[in-house]
Amino acid sequence: MRIIIVLLAFFISLSGFSQVNGNTAKLQRPKLVVGIAVDQMRWDYLYRYYDRYGNDGFRRLLNGGYSCENTMINYLPSLTAVGHTVVFTGSVPALSGITGNDWMDQLTGKTVYCTSDSTVQGVGGSSPNEGKMSPRNLLVTTITDELRIATNFRSKVVGVSLKDRASILPAGHSANAAFWFEDASGHFITSTYYMNQLPDWATRFNNSNIIDSLIVKGWNTLYPINTYKQSDPDNVPYEGKFVGEQAPVFPHPIKEIYASNKSSIRNTPFGNTLTLQFAKAALDGYNLGRGEATDFLTINFACTDGVGHMYGPNSIEIEDTYLRLDKDLANLFQTLDQKVGKGQWLLFLTADHGAANTVGFMQEHKLPGELTSPSRLVDSLNRRLNELFQVSGLVRSISNNMVNFDVNRIYSSALDFDAIKKAAVDFLQRQPEIVIAVDISKVGESPVPEPLKTMIGNSYYFKRSGSVLIVAKSGQLEAFYKTGTSHSKWNPYDTHIPFILYGWNIKPGRLNRTVNMSDIAPTIAALLHIQMGSGSVGQVVTEVIPAK
Ligand code: ZN
Ligand code: ZN
Repeated sequence: MRIIIVLLAFFISLSGFSQVNGNTAKLQRPKLVVGIAVDQMRWDYLYRYYDRYGNDGFRRLLNGGYSCENTMINYLPSLTAVGHTVVFTGSVPALSGITGNDWMDQLTGKTVYCTSDSTVQGVGGSSPNEGKMSPRNLLVTTITDELRIATNFRSKVVGVSLKDRASILPAGHSANAAFWFEDASGHFITSTYYMNQLPDWATRFNNSNIIDSLIVKGWNTLYPINTYKQSDPDNVPYEGKFVGEQAPVFPHPIKEIYASNKSSIRNTPFGNTLTLQFAKAALDGYNLGRGEATDFLTINFACTDGVGHMYGPNSIEIEDTYLRLDKDLANLFQTLDQKVGKGQWLLFLTADHGAANTVGFMQEHKLPGELTSPSRLVDSLNRRLNELFQVSGLVRSISNNMVNFDVNRIYSSALDFDAIKKAAVDFLQRQPEIVIAVDISKVGESPVPEPLKTMIGNSYYFKRSGSVLIVAKSGQLEAFYKTGTSHSKWNPYDTHIPFILYGWNIKPGRLNRTVNMSDIAPTIAALLHIQMGSGSVGQVVTEVIPAK
């Protein structure tokens, strides 16, 4: 009899239920899920600065959590909107429809911003047009949507970021709220998609001028500058400068710079601290993690991207930004312990993409890297196609690593699109800066190595993608990035990201097999016993699911 009871208890717990009040089995879920995407965080930053992190931030996650060490982006381009979408949908651009931060609508030739929505108005900012944003361009559901559905909308879902796209896309279609930052007013705003008026706590936050207290002392290094041994010297020619600065060096007079350039906060670590403070205010404002159903808070720390673009991965500025983020994370985890309870919250930390080293840095160290000009390529490609087909302007642009053709003209003039694409591929492959050019619709039969072939196939949504994909040489950046850096390519520096789970039901561990970014959402769904997103193609990381 005892054996039967023990076995029964074992099987009941196996199914995710536990015994409460005698025979009443209740489904166990965390009180709160926190999904953090650190913008432009390369996986190697976990270890590059490991010795300088404190015990309560990144190290708390690495030592007490489960780290999927080889999590890779499995689509192109590796850009912010696409990254956040894949993390929270488990889908890929071919199905989610989010194919870039912007894309060319192939049928109209118009450029579309990922979260633009002319049917809504901004709420809480200085201009109603600034906030014309919603998730309507996203074609599939997120795990945050699925949590809402699973609890009959008793769960609350809130998204927070300085960037509209990094708040709106993670929070999904049915979110209670998504908040982002309007530079002109210095306020967190939302849109009428979610509500007609900011909650009182958000208005109070906006009126408290926290930003002024964050920047009052300017930006100096957190520790003595000679301790930043993991970074370049402070003054190198391949770092960007704020207008008015003579050299890209500490201390950066951010208080003065911000007075005339409101977007400059995005290129400092202080915008991350501001985001943290707002996320904590949202935690209280919505009483997240303290209701009867599991809530979900998504946070994007966007300034790691702003600082990275301006100074590059080997700058003291980026090192300092991560050391400060480490402290912000420690503060967040401590707050969650206090307000939600230790062991009651489930958190995952990942990134939307990584970044290349700066071209100047690569050249200085004899590593492959160069600047190129895609617009020059458009002109020369159009000349070649005009010679062959006697039609000018067949190529509209190159964006998101893809060639946008005038598909309407090709269709209405009954031109042979396959022949045009083949001619384009033949021309592009001869260009010195290009390694591979491929007609995406024929990638299956093309000599493209894995994982690139799968990445390309995952990326093609005809109405919102170009039709020929270009793979550049390693280390290539557009001419605009004479200083600083960018991302969008397939290479591991852009696509190898952290993925760490921590807290409720997570045992410490490490996994070294390859995991895809699209596996994150179905894994969280499995932990929560909820349906995966409606476009989900990822696999559950079964190693992290408790066996009990
Ligand atoms: Zn990003
Ligand atoms: Zn970026």
